Amino acid sequence: MELARLHKHIANQRSAFHWQTAGYLAGKYALICIEDLNLKAMQRQFGRKIADLGFADFVGKLKYMAGKTGSAVVEVDRFYPSSQLCSSCGYQNKEIKNLKIREWICPQCGIQHNRDKNAAMNIKAEGERIFLAS
Ligand SMILES: [Zn+2]
Repeated sequence: MELARLHKHIANQRSAFHWQTAGYLAGKYALICIEDLNLKAMQRQFGRKIADLGFADFVGKLKYMAGKTGSAVVEVDRFYPSSQLCSSCGYQNKEIKNLKIREWICPQCGIQHNRDKNAAMNIKAEGERIFLAS
């Protein structure tokens, strides 16, 4: 069955890419901070695509590889408002809940943010805080 073979091929490629990426990250970084995403809720909101990305599988591989290299993987709580907080001054901007906003200027300190980069900086800071407290 040609289609089944194709699906298997894609799954194998994805798995190889996940192992490669997990190995790279675990080899390069002593502390890896990720968001504990609510995959079920994201699936409801965005449809099947999120599940197809196999993020949960990737996190499993990342933890395994981190175990081998001695790196730590810290999961930041899904309710931590990583997108809404200004990574510079800490101001919480609730308008950023709107996913269409990709860039914003902090009304408190005036810094300009890229949505994803700002969220990543907040996840890193929160992950470091959790790691040091544990
Ligand atoms: Zn700010």
